[in-house]
Amino acid sequence: MSIFNRIVAREIPADIVFESDTLIAFRDIAPQAPVHLLVVPKRDDFANVSELAAGDPDLLAEIVATANALAKEYADGDFRLVFNSGAGAGQTVFHVHAHVLAGGLAEGTLA
Ligand code: AMP
Repeated sequence: MSIFNRIVAREIPADIVFESDTLIAFRDIAPQAPVHLLVVPKRDDFANVSELAAGDPDLLAEIVATANALAKEYADGDFRLVFNSGAGAGQTVFHVHAHVLAGGLAEGTLA
């Protein structure tokens, strides 16, 4: 069971900002931007965004729509959506999740 499953099950605490039948979103414990949310499918059988896109593209589209709604609610509506894919790219939790970074991001930077 991934650490994100444990958040869904309320076994570990998180600052949850959105939940539906299919998704959960909460604040990243180590924020890299003024607003840093994680949007996570409740199903945990996709390790990364490529697997998700191939296996359930509708769920990927739901993540994007949710990121958009949350960026409007918690920032000015602009956001950066990051999926780290693979340990070499910095992925540490192999249960697909989107980082939603928003609020006062520096212009012209990728990180
Ligand atoms: P990644 O490195 O792309 O796999 O992203 C994993 C993210 O999960 C990191 O940004 C962590 O800070 C975040 N994270 C790990 N544990 C927790 C937790 N218990 N609550 C909130 N965020 C977490």
